Amino acid sequence: MNTFELISVARKQGRTALDEFAGKQLLASFGISVPRAAVIKGADEAAAAFAKLTAPLVLKVMSPDILHKSDAGGVKVNLKSAAETADAVREMMNSPALHAARIDGFLLEEMAPGGQEVVVGAVRDPQFGPLVMVGLGGIFVEVLADVSFRICPVTRLDAREMLAELKGAAVLKGARGRKAVSQDSIVDVLLKIGGEGGLLMSHAGDFKEADINPLIVSESGAVAVDARFILS
Ligand code: ADP
Ligand code: MG
Repeated sequence: MNTFELISVARKQGRTALDEFAGKQLLASFGISVPRAAVIKGADEAAAAFAKLTAPLVLKVMSPDILHKSDAGGVKVNLKSAAETADAVREMMNSPALHAARIDGFLLEEMAPGGQEVVVGAVRDPQFGPLVMVGLGGIFVEVLADVSFRICPVTRLDAREMLAELKGAAVLKGARGRKAVSQDSIVDVLLKIGGEGGLLMSHAGDFKEADINPLIVSESGAVAVDARFILS
């Protein structure tokens, strides 16, 4: 399926957003690393899916009704065996927060190497068209609103400046005894999302809003572990 088909399938299903698996397929087709994953319907499919992936794994609920999966008990990280995974699916299915929701299935995926969590986002400005955003994860975005924006398409220089502008930029360079993370990998993702020929320029009219939250950036690379694409 090409990226336009991916989007038209979601529209035909009456969705207002891509599900996480489709969102990650979209990212992957623009060259962004995403975890290897499988979609399962229930606990009886957990062992077969577990065997095809490399543990530890993460289990996530897929539901058009759940925006923040963790808040709803819909994310379980660090699953190390098939039995543990099947139990996690059962437990998730029985969680009260999920009872009222429509469940598409469960995403089972490999864990990204540890690193700094970064947010990459996109919004459409009625006047300027697509804008790309970057910020450091967690409280940097939520409390401190430490983010920078540019109008698309961005150049490599723009992307570098976006990172340099962040008040928390030092965190990427390895503040407080932590290792520096690969800023080039973040720049690369910003170009694949917001650059010439990137996702936003190629799909200008398709999305009202999008984000990768988080992109996990290690010393050597960056993996998009969550993807949200709101259709326009
Ligand atoms: P939501 O934002 O809907 O609550 P996420 O998919 O972002 O759910 O998962 C919540 C958190 O779990 C992430 O912020 C990240 O810290 C961790 N996480 C999720 N998927 C992975 C993964 N594949 N590898 C490592 N950590 C992950
Ligand atoms: Mg998230």
